[in-house]
Amino acid sequence: MGIKGFIETSFLDWPGKICAVLFLPYCNLRCPYCHNHELVLHPDRFSDFPWDTIQQRLEVLRNWLDGVCITGGEPTLHSDLPELLDRIHGLGLAVKLDTNGTHPEMLEFLISQKLVDYLAMDIKGPLDQKSYGRSAGVRISIPEIKKSMEFILSGRVAGEFRTTVVPEWHTAPVLAQMALELKEAPKWTHQAFNPAQPLDPALRVERGHGFERAANKANGS
Ligand code: SF4
Repeated sequence: MGIKGFIETSFLDWPGKICAVLFLPYCNLRCPYCHNHELVLHPDRFSDFPWDTIQQRLEVLRNWLDGVCITGGEPTLHSDLPELLDRIHGLGLAVKLDTNGTHPEMLEFLISQKLVDYLAMDIKGPLDQKSYGRSAGVRISIPEIKKSMEFILSGRVAGEFRTTVVPEWHTAPVLAQMALELKEAPKWTHQAFNPAQPLDPALRVERGHGFERAANKANGS
C-alpha cells in the first residue's frame, strides 16, 4: 500500500492515549476542505516509509505508546490493511482506525477479526444525499455510511464520530439536525475547518472561522 507518513508519538490523534500515526495514501472522496489533499491526489510525491524501519521504531517505543493510529487518505481502500493491523497487534500495540465510512465491508472484516480497537468515523453532514455529497465532494451512498455508523452505534467496536465544521455549511440548524441523527452516538467531536490549504481554493481564509479571520487580520494578511 505504501506508508506515506509516520509520526512516532502523538498526543492528539487518539484522545487520552499516546500513539504513533501512520498515513496511508489515496481517498475516494474529495472533501473541498481536505487539508491532506496532497496525500489524496498526489501520493507519488511522497516516499514510502519501509515497514522494517517503522517496526524497529515501534519496538523501541512500545513501552511508551498505547497504540498506533492509522489515518490517511482513506485506509480502507487498501486490501492489505488487515495485514498491517495484524502486524501492529503483533507488536503488542492497539489500533485506532480513522475512516470516512464508505467501505463498510472492509470495516466488517476488520472488526470481525478484532483488528481494530477504536474506530473514528467522519460524519460529513446531515444524512441526506445533497448535504453529504456537498461536504464529501462526490456522490455518496448514504446506506453505506449508515452501515458503517452502525458498528459504533451498536457497540461492536469502541469509537466516535467526527465532523469537520465549515461554518458556511454547518450552520446551527444543520448541526442540530446532525445531533438528532447522532443522538445514540457514544461520542461526537467537532474539529475546526482549516482554511489555510483546503483542496478547494475557494474555501480559503475568508470562509474560515471567526477566530482564524481575526488571527489573519492581526497578522496583517
Ligand atoms: S475523506 Fe475527505 S477529508 Fe478525509 S482524506 Fe478523504 S478527501 Fe480528505
